[in-house]
Amino acid sequence: MEIEKLTKEIRNRAFEKKKDKTPEQVAASWYNDDLTYNGVSKTLFMILPTPGCSWALGDSGGCTMCSYVSDCTLEPIDDDKIIEIFNNHLSRFPIAEEDKISVKLFASGSFLNPYELPKTARDYILKKLAEMDNVCEIIVESRPEYVNEKVLDEIFEIIGDKLFEVSMGLETYNDETRLNKINKGFTAKDFEDAVHLIQKMRDEKDYDIKSKAYVFVKPILLNEKEAIDEAIETAYYCEELGVDRLSFCPATIHAQTLIERLWRQGAYNPPWIWSAIEIINTVRENVKIPALLDTSGFGSRRGPYNCKKCNKTLKNMIIDSNLTQSLIEYDCECKKQWKAEVIASDMNKSKTPVKHIPLY
Ligand code: SF4
Ligand SMILES: [Zn+2]
Repeated sequence: MEIEKLTKEIRNRAFEKKKDKTPEQVAASWYNDDLTYNGVSKTLFMILPTPGCSWALGDSGGCTMCSYVSDCTLEPIDDDKIIEIFNNHLSRFPIAEEDKISVKLFASGSFLNPYELPKTARDYILKKLAEMDNVCEIIVESRPEYVNEKVLDEIFEIIGDKLFEVSMGLETYNDETRLNKINKGFTAKDFEDAVHLIQKMRDEKDYDIKSKAYVFVKPILLNEKEAIDEAIETAYYCEELGVDRLSFCPATIHAQTLIERLWRQGAYNPPWIWSAIEIINTVRENVKIPALLDTSGFGSRRGPYNCKKCNKTLKNMIIDSNLTQSLIEYDCECKKQWKAEVIASDMNKSKTPVKHIPLY
């Protein structure tokens, strides 16, 4: 496929320029309040050292907007090293002081893929968390093809009755966008199979297991209006399917990706923050499952952007609203420009920002 060839070519170029990273440099952790299935609680976020996402390392070149693989080692890492780094990061936070905490483990790819995170290291990490009484939920990310009964049985044998959430990057309900614009390489059917298996494990084996969908806001070759509509449509699709939570990720421009190439040529812009707010408000009003909005990169040159006057305020309002699930009510003079762009993008089908158009 053309998109795979192009993404692979860009990825290879990125690898040529890539600086070597040690496993220690790949790992990171931070500690924040977050919304859990049981209200707001402290959450430990940890990026585990991995060689990188197999999808991005393979012949497809990976997804058109993602450069996480460039932050990884590209080489397999010893179990002992992963365990040592995990323990080191775990000891940095006053976890024992909390009644309940949630732990989010990022693998810059798929936690459930044993090539990315070997089983011995995975088992150790889960056992350690299972032994901590105050850890009430464990959240991981995975592509749907690694969600299978065997791996879920192995995990629940260790974690017992703790809540376990598998977050999957569905990105959009639309196969055409996911396959040909994001280069995600799996269909809605693959995602549905994974969600159904999770539901089956919950019903038949009594596992406390949940599914979450990441929704990518504004893939390449979608205009502002199409991006808003598709993200909202994806939320309805996920609710219907029985997904447990949603997380919207508005685009930021990762270095050495296809999205960056189009952005540099003026053929792509990240979404307005207003678009992200339109999506989250509509979804919170009409969809019953909790919906989070990621604010990474908001207000920066490479991220979602409104105007200097409102970027920061809105970012803070969104972070607060993620905890309360409330609507975001705010106004700024730049909202008119956003509205005009949304209307115009639908009229002329342009995928690029339309400047100097009359406002109504
Ligand atoms: S978005 Fe996920 S699946 Fe796609 S390349 Fe990045 S880590 Fe891999
Ligand atoms: Zn503004």
